[in-house]
Amino acid sequence: MSLPNEMPRPAQYRLRLPGPTAVPERIRLATAAAMVNHRGPEFHALFDEAVRRVRPVLGTTGEVLLFPGSGTGVMEAAIANLVAPGDPVLVVIHGQFGERFKAIAEGMGAAVDTVESEWGDPPDAERVAAAARARDYRAVFVTHNESSTGAVADLAAIGKALAGGPAVLVVDAVSSAAGLPLRQDEWGLDVVVTASQKALMCPPGLGLVSVSEKAWRAMEREGGTPRFYWDFRRARAAFAKSETAFTAPVSLVAGLVEALRMIDEEGLPAVFERHWRCGEAMRAGGTALGLEIFTRGGTLSDTVTVFRAPGPIEGGAIVRRLYEAYHTVIAGARNRLQGKVFRIGTMGAIDAPDILTDLHYLECALRDLGMRVPQGAGVAAAAKILG
Ligand SMILES: *Cc1c(COP(=O)(O)O)cnc(C)c1O
Repeated sequence: MSLPNEMPRPAQYRLRLPGPTAVPERIRLATAAAMVNHRGPEFHALFDEAVRRVRPVLGTTGEVLLFPGSGTGVMEAAIANLVAPGDPVLVVIHGQFGERFKAIAEGMGAAVDTVESEWGDPPDAERVAAAARARDYRAVFVTHNESSTGAVADLAAIGKALAGGPAVLVVDAVSSAAGLPLRQDEWGLDVVVTASQKALMCPPGLGLVSVSEKAWRAMEREGGTPRFYWDFRRARAAFAKSETAFTAPVSLVAGLVEALRMIDEEGLPAVFERHWRCGEAMRAGGTALGLEIFTRGGTLSDTVTVFRAPGPIEGGAIVRRLYEAYHTVIAGARNRLQGKVFRIGTMGAIDAPDILTDLHYLECALRDLGMRVPQGAGVAAAAKILG
């Protein structure tokens, strides 16, 4: 997205992680606006605009709660609000972030069962449905876009399979919201959590949680996990007054509003189309350079592309070379795939020039590291898709 008032990004620092992502100048300026009363009319207007504009991004007409915190904070909050120690829960695991859901739920004393697929594969909706029927689960947890592998869960199928059952379906949409279509209400997703620093183009620090009627009913029972600051019921009471229960992260909410205005100016379908185009161009370009996409089957993520490290070259070496020689910051892996993959974000404020530059530098870095790569093949393959 090139905007007339866009100041150049720091030329020596190309932030191409799968989050945090580059923050456009418009959003950075919005976060620098003068402070206002967090319970006054100026904030009420910001809050209402944020909620109004974010609802279509999540595909909901329900309450959207705002909390200071990163994605993991709102993942934990969702568990604290729905699950009591001893409750049986089912965690669908297809990568690092599913494992995180499991670790949090176990840490909070839940009785965790898992349904796992190979990293790189999406979850199998039928296996999830069968596993969910086996026990009266309190909640089922799914990662929409597994940023560690680039696999996307079929939430429509999983939501359909769980519809009518007792379990509340909780979705980690941290790296998908505003990059991939998300239809919370239509797909039967009960709690969706996301965060500001990925496709929403904002600085890190703001968590969003949208809650269905079924999830609100599940929270009516007495007891549960002790909680105060993160209590969704308290947040809901404040939501009715266009406020947060405790001091809001006012500057980040202002940034979010600006990000959502940008999304609405472009049009949400166009935003998704641009993510698809950039993701597809990255995949085609990398493949033309001789790389292999790590992700198998199903829908491949348009917000993060995960390549296998080629032959003898270690993933971390590619990450380091891109940073040191080409001031381009991509990600490796900090899990069982360490050294085996490298990951490039294709989410947020990105467009054709970013992808073409990434592929040019990737070609250079791979050649520097001793790989024989066809000259210009990545850029050429991507250009066909980017038009
Ligand atoms: C980034 C990310 C998170 C949250 O990580 P934080 O560092 O806590 O913001 C959670 N889930 C997925 C899928 C992510 O990509």
